[in-house]
Amino acid sequence: MFDSILAPTDGSEHAGRAIEAAVDLALKYDARLVILHVEIHHATAQEITHILRDSTIPAEIQREIGRLQNVSAPIPVGGSRGKRTLSSKLEQYVGEFLVKRAVDYATEKGVTNVTSHITDGSPHRRIIEATEQEKVDLLVMGTRGLGGIHGYLQGSVSQSVRSHCRCACLLIP
Ligand code: ATP
Ligand code: MG
Repeated sequence: MFDSILAPTDGSEHAGRAIEAAVDLALKYDARLVILHVEIHHATAQEITHILRDSTIPAEIQREIGRLQNVSAPIPVGGSRGKRTLSSKLEQYVGEFLVKRAVDYATEKGVTNVTSHITDGSPHRRIIEATEQEKVDLLVMGTRGLGGIHGYLQGSVSQSVRSHCRCACLLIP
């Protein structure tokens, strides 16, 4: 039923569960799996530490994370909740770490056709574009992501993608 599945990840636990579901479906339907990460420009040190959980973080990356706790690190325009602007080195490390973790997981589970992309821009636009460019027939993503403001059932990215997406869309809580 599904030939091609897109699973976008921001490193959140919701996205992790979405990748598990996407891998399961890719195996069931012998489908191609595409992993997508849209670079994160602003985050708290806690969010980055959460993304890199259960991994050995190189010393230079630990220093970059430490910089995020430093009050002199750049605060994003309209920045809130302690978010700081990530250095390009940290952004790149996080992106590569995330797609590698997802691709390794899919490969270990037996998905033979898996590709990944790291891109930049507005996450909901990039996800919609990827569904069209990659001609996927199923999108599997988290209902929520890293933001996780308590009380909201759905994040802004999943909400916007859901209402603009032309293929089947499975949201994993
Ligand atoms: P908000 O961002 O509005 O504070 P949130 O972070 O809780 O809310 P969303 O951002 O909507 O929730 O995340 C929902 C899902 O969208 C994630 O589980 C993930 O699948 C996808 N997603 C969000 N951001 C990205 C990103 N930068 N790259 C790839 N996928 C993303
Ligand atoms: Mg988010």
